[in-house]
Amino acid sequence: MKRVYRAASLIQVAHARNVLIAAGIASELRNQYLAGAMGELPMMETWPQLYVDDVDEARALRALERAAAPVAGSPWVCESCGEQLEPQFTTCWRCGTEPGSRSS
Ligand SMILES: [Zn+2]
Repeated sequence: MKRVYRAASLIQVAHARNVLIAAGIASELRNQYLAGAMGELPMMETWPQLYVDDVDEARALRALERAAAPVAGSPWVCESCGEQLEPQFTTCWRCGTEPGSRSS
């Protein structure tokens, strides 16, 4: 088994596990209830972790990487004028501002 994911929050790990399930990869959740052991182990070792079979490791990591990338289809709000914009717009159609370009 190889560890492919860990996070302080069980919610994040559960989400990552769903990503793997969607990709058809079986995973094993460990440390789900280990919070009580903190103090004896390095903190990150007590985090919930996801393990997959060795042969699935590369595929699992790719799936998680894809899932972590910014969603291409999410709407955004113009920093300058507050207009709500659909994901296909790369600049505000109203005032021409690009996301992250506010000068102040
Ligand atoms: Zn704007």
